[in-house]
Amino acid sequence: MNPLRSLILAAADNDVIRRTVATAPVSRDVVRRFVAGETVADAIEVTRQLVDSGLTVTLDHLGEDTTDADLADQTVRAYLELLDALYAEGLAAGAEVSVKLTAVGQLLDEQLALTNAARICAAAEQCGTTVTLDMEDHTTTDSTLRVLAELRRTWPSVGAVLQAYLHRTVGDCARLAGTGSRVRLCKGAYAEPAEVAYQDMHEVNLSYVRCVNTLLAGDGYPMFATHDPRLVPIVDARAEAHGRKPGGFEFQMLYGIRPEEQRRLAALGHTVRVYVPYGVQWYGYLMRRLAERPANTAFFLRALVSR
Ligand code: FAD
Repeated sequence: MNPLRSLILAAADNDVIRRTVATAPVSRDVVRRFVAGETVADAIEVTRQLVDSGLTVTLDHLGEDTTDADLADQTVRAYLELLDALYAEGLAAGAEVSVKLTAVGQLLDEQLALTNAARICAAAEQCGTTVTLDMEDHTTTDSTLRVLAELRRTWPSVGAVLQAYLHRTVGDCARLAGTGSRVRLCKGAYAEPAEVAYQDMHEVNLSYVRCVNTLLAGDGYPMFATHDPRLVPIVDARAEAHGRKPGGFEFQMLYGIRPEEQRRLAALGHTVRVYVPYGVQWYGYLMRRLAERPANTAFFLRALVSR
């Protein structure tokens, strides 16, 4: 792995650095490039702008790695409040929610995470929208897929995320490519060991394309999450070769990254979903985005010193 990427991902887990950066007087504009804001109102405002411009949205209430049942409950309540607001504002048709199981108790007890995720799924169904379970580091993959399988018994539309950097993922794609499934394919954002994950970006890209083909060959609804200018046209061409029309799959990108490409794809008739994070716990999310691209780190540091 690129040494700068490893360093930034290590910083994401370091409590001292976390406290220093999170309490530094970081310009709101810097964080706001990637995060909608801290409140539900901020999330709704950004969602409305995106939906009005022809995009769809998945909203993430920021937070992860909770080992406290009360905090997990607070996260569930935050999602319920968000879903109510989406419904009240008439935005539920264009916006779903993404949930990290570690934020709703997975590290404490898988059953608690299942119960909490089910509360969110039930509320999403009532509001007329869906839920996708984000995928976190590889130690949680089996547990997340077990919880997914349980949730899908009641809510078949609950979406999964698979990470192309893991050796196992092409097999997981084949297992999850059945009718009714929704699978988001991404490269993967965590620092993973060579025993479980490809370390070379070229290998990750090859794995991504194998997974694209596997998902497109199935009967599910694939959601291709990438900003990679080489992969987007490959996905498009492979989808056409598999007879998928726009609407039979979707592109997904992160809020603040390649917005002009998001609009270009939407203008071609593709469904494009923007992943919009919001909330006070933006630190871990921001560090992963910085790790993906050194230019972002330079942008962040420049903004800090030029305040
Ligand atoms: P990269 O090889 O990282 O980037 C290719 C090119 O894309 C870059 O050269 C640049 O032009 C552009 N680009 C990429 N990232 C940035 C950036 N940060 N800023 C500016 N330009 C950039 N990961 C998980 O592990 N679990 C998840 O649940 C998860 N959910 C995701 C949901 C969505 C909708 C998206 C888009 C990503 C998600 N990710 C998730 C993150 C993903 O795994 C990658 O870390 C991230 O998308 C970067 O990979 P990439 O495919 O864009 O390619």
